[in-house]
Amino acid sequence: MEMQIDGTIIALALGDITLEETDAIVNAANSGLRGGGGVDGAIHRAGGGSIMEECRKIGFCPTGQAVVTGGGNLKARYVIHAVGPIYRGGGRGEADLLKSAYRESLKRATEKGLRSISFPAISAGVYGYPLDEAAHIALMTVIDYVKEHREIDLARFVLFSRDVYDVFSSEMKKLMCCGRS
Ligand code: ADP
Repeated sequence: MEMQIDGTIIALALGDITLEETDAIVNAANSGLRGGGGVDGAIHRAGGGSIMEECRKIGFCPTGQAVVTGGGNLKARYVIHAVGPIYRGGGRGEADLLKSAYRESLKRATEKGLRSISFPAISAGVYGYPLDEAAHIALMTVIDYVKEHREIDLARFVLFSRDVYDVFSSEMKKLMCCGRS
């Protein structure tokens, strides 16, 4: 499924983000940039040791921020390591922090002059963010950004399971039919 915003395609795909051929893929990293399970582990396994070496040199990334490394053995040239919030009930600034993690990732892409980027569902795995809210924030933040930054041609959400894909697609349908909500 996809939608078009002022010339930018925003697409949903079911699959493994490590196989993406966009200029950059985004990692749902932790603040220590130490790797781990989920999509983070998958990216480091597929990309090889050079990504972790660069992460060690960078050392730390605050929640809501994003840092860039090369893509190692991946097809993507860069990995943008974004740190989403751990969900603790919603009263601790989680929505702003999740929005910021997407926005900062897009800013890193713009700074590097990239035209295409793939995202996982940041914070929607072990960090426990409610899926429908996480999908809404993800889509709205990317839509708002590409309206201001026409240089991004393609933003893909690469979703690892059918249930996550279905939630993103129903959020996208709502946005297409009714605009912002
Ligand atoms: P977080 O700690 O930010 O919650 P997780 O890695 O636990 O990050 O989960 C984020 C999302 O990434 C989840 O929906 C999970 O199913 C998904 N995921 C796991 N592996 C992959 C992969 N190889 N490609 C794309 N998404 C993945």
